[in-house]
Amino acid sequence: MFLKDAGATRASLGLPGPAGRCSPGLDQALRRMQDACTRCGACQKYCAFLQEYGTPGEMMDIHDFSRPESQKLAFECSLCNLCRAVCPEKLNPGGLFLSIRREAAGSGHVDFSPYKAILGYERKGSSPLFSCYALPAGCDTVFFPGCTLPGTRPKTTWKLFEHLKKRIPHLGVVLDCCHKPSHDLGRQAHFESMFNRILDNLTGNNVQKVLTACPNCHKMFSRYGFRFEVKTVYEVIDPGDLPVFIPGNREVTVHDPCPMREETHVRASVRNLLDAMGVSVTEMTHWGKKALCCGEGGSVGFVRPDLARKWGLLRQKESGDRTILTYCAGCAGFLGRTAPTFTLPTSCFHRRRPSPAPSRWSGPLLPI
Ligand code: SF4
Ligand code: SF4
Repeated sequence: MFLKDAGATRASLGLPGPAGRCSPGLDQALRRMQDACTRCGACQKYCAFLQEYGTPGEMMDIHDFSRPESQKLAFECSLCNLCRAVCPEKLNPGGLFLSIRREAAGSGHVDFSPYKAILGYERKGSSPLFSCYALPAGCDTVFFPGCTLPGTRPKTTWKLFEHLKKRIPHLGVVLDCCHKPSHDLGRQAHFESMFNRILDNLTGNNVQKVLTACPNCHKMFSRYGFRFEVKTVYEVIDPGDLPVFIPGNREVTVHDPCPMREETHVRASVRNLLDAMGVSVTEMTHWGKKALCCGEGGSVGFVRPDLARKWGLLRQKESGDRTILTYCAGCAGFLGRTAPTFTLPTSCFHRRRPSPAPSRWSGPLLPI
């Protein structure tokens, strides 16, 4: 239950506004959200987090986001940005919750122990044991597959590299972690230092173009790697040079990962590639700009697995009995728990037919 005019009530009671003692930038953003949000509820329709806590405007009325107990709420937002895509006022609640996460992390208000697994994964991804910069002479373009694709599908990753190499003979490959988990947990200083290390390494080796396979890496490179031309492999794969596929179920529905919400051309490239492969696509109700999160976003599953699961269940419901095809290995891991799910690279390079969809998916967590 939320107070209709709680902002005025807090003021009349002499309580601080939503910003309390926040940094000036966040203070301004919180107050803008409180003023500009009409409490229309459009962003709440599918978001269990906002259904639980109220519209962004109502949250600003009720909480003082300079306080650790209120800042904690921002870690239950999946940072999927669906709210931004549907907001008639063009507000960006997801962006605001990320800013609150940064403020909380920067003030030392966050207990990161629940995220031990994901931060350990990130550390391993950039460790000397798992990272590698294989840059042949004359290399100006690198394939950056990220952590999850090579970690879960090493053979597919290698086939993808070989495929790309036919078109780009001096192609290099970089295995490293883009540190998006730290970015999303608000550990901005740590993220920047680790990501800049990658950028400096590439710049020092005269690399000019980065080909990404993971939508999360793509978002980090597009946003922070302004020195480079950044493209996804899905825009480069040549469908005429892929293995011949076995006949059978060739209908899928495509799950667009949240970081691709604004990347119209990438989403179109994925569909063009599937079309060229003879795979027909039936879209879910929410796709493209308005796609629903798989549940992995914002590392919410580490603190509110129930909220993360709700996104996955919505996706399962929308996909019906169709096989889901996605182009994010992380999304495939989450969606694969409840519905038959394949990644696009897997479908490109393996002669495996998508399984007929069971009424309840009981297959492996990650097909292939
Ligand atoms: S859709 Fe926009 S205006 Fe409507 S409640 Fe959400 S943030 Fe506020
Ligand atoms: S970013 Fe996603 S999870 Fe967060 S408030 Fe918006 S719709 Fe909800």
